[in-house]
Amino acid sequence: MAIKITDECINCGACEPECPNNAIYEGAMDWRFSDGTDLNGYVVGRNGHSADAEDPQEPISDEVYYIVADKCTECKGFHDEPQCAAVCPVDCCIPDENNEETEEELLEKKEMLHL
Ligand code: SF4
Ligand code: SF4
Repeated sequence: MAIKITDECINCGACEPECPNNAIYEGAMDWRFSDGTDLNGYVVGRNGHSADAEDPQEPISDEVYYIVADKCTECKGFHDEPQCAAVCPVDCCIPDENNEETEEELLEKKEMLHL
């Protein structure tokens, strides 16, 4: 399943550069499917979110850092454990129970993000 950031986040920014999929964004900042991925053209995410890869998308949080579930692979294909959770000083990167996925699905997502 994807990882999510709770409102315990202290906005330290440590997690953002660790994400191999560029799935982590600062609060109130727009996100794009194309940021840090090979995606281009019209994209349909696993969660039904669709957009042109280059188009800015509304922030998921205005207050704290957030994770785009359609870009989070739980670091599968890159690392043995979620890197955001590994570096977070307040342990607020936790499994997102609303976005449960199997390892196979996470690896398929990784393949979709990085051609
Ligand atoms: S688990 Fe990995 S892929 Fe998902 S947001 Fe954290 S660092 Fe990025
Ligand atoms: S490392 Fe943790 S506290 Fe720091 S910005 Fe990321 S989620 Fe927030």
